[in-house]
Amino acid sequence: RATRVNESTLADWMESATSGSGSGLPFLVQRTMARQIQLVNCIGKGRYGAVWKGMWQDEPVAVKVFASRDEQSWARETEIYNTVLLRHSNILGYIASDMISRNSDTELWLVCYYHPNGSLYEYLQHNELDHQLMLQLCLSAANGLTHLHTDILGVCGKAAIAHRDVKSKNILVKSDLTCCIADLGLAVTHNPEEGKIVIPKNNHRVGTKRYMSPEVLDESLNTSSFECFKQADVYSFGLVLWEVARRCVSGGIVETYQPPFYDVVGYDPSFDEMRKVVCVDGYRPVVPNRWTSDDTLSIISKILRETWCKTPSNRLTIHRVKKSLLKATEQLAPQVTKQNYTDISPLLSLAPK
Ligand code: ADP
Ligand code: MG
Ligand code: MG
Repeated sequence: RATRVNESTLADWMESATSGSGSGLPFLVQRTMARQIQLVNCIGKGRYGAVWKGMWQDEPVAVKVFASRDEQSWARETEIYNTVLLRHSNILGYIASDMISRNSDTELWLVCYYHPNGSLYEYLQHNELDHQLMLQLCLSAANGLTHLHTDILGVCGKAAIAHRDVKSKNILVKSDLTCCIADLGLAVTHNPEEGKIVIPKNNHRVGTKRYMSPEVLDESLNTSSFECFKQADVYSFGLVLWEVARRCVSGGIVETYQPPFYDVVGYDPSFDEMRKVVCVDGYRPVVPNRWTSDDTLSIISKILRETWCKTPSNRLTIHRVKKSLLKATEQLAPQVTKQNYTDISPLLSLAPK
């Protein structure tokens, strides 16, 4: 059923889109481009409709298609991607947004770069990792999340952004086997100059239950402190590190792919089930024995302990997680230069740590 899309949302969006931050493409170019895309096949299904591989001229692109009733989510994700300075090699590259009439229905499109390896979740099912690749996946993902979390002061600065749905399905593996952070639809922003946290209206979904931090599960998260949203992201990110580390071969041994808490909850755990496991029982994923006799994997297990502790303020910041991973990378392969991860943006060195 065709629903009328809210005109004021469209007007707001046109204004931000023409400001030239997001993709750098003016609004009209974005629309023209979107209309030249042929959808090829469905590559993913998430909470809000489907993600398609499409072709724009000879270039593959990814098109996230929202139904018009999910306008709010589309508008929010578009808005976040239009944040100044969000373009980063470890954050999914945004191209365009548009509203399309198809089969007498209005669809809302979000066009991004296409990554044929799909999500980290899918990649880990089919691939075992050596130490270097494991660290590369973890470090590049941490690098992306660090960029999101960092605020950069100044006229052309960037607000800090907390993701609120960090999980292996929302991290993509690029062809060079580094990661980028995707699915920014639930993100919250914090403008340090105004000191206010912007939580989108009509947005009560707070992520994926399996990955929810103790304070999200027991509803004790202090929503007036932006630090708290970042701390919750770090907890979820720790679970992702655990998923990746299990797939790293050491001494000829490797664990099969499993999602976090596979051993204690079912396929689609309820809020109450997760709260019992995480908050009441204080249960956390098991660190296999073999990790302790491996230099790199023991560094990872130390990071895990410090990311999923119950008290949010005791957790490492994502910036510290990145530093530890960088150190592990240097230890393992001194030839892999720091350069890849320190030159993110010269501006970042000006940002508070
Ligand atoms: P949702 O908000 O509905 O969860 P996502 O943006 O997370 O949507 O996308 C759903 C899935 O589609 C991802 O888990 C991933 O498997 C796939 N996907 C999304 N974007 C891309 C992309 N740019 N390239 C390749 N696969 C993608
Ligand atoms: Mg998703
Ligand atoms: Mg989403």
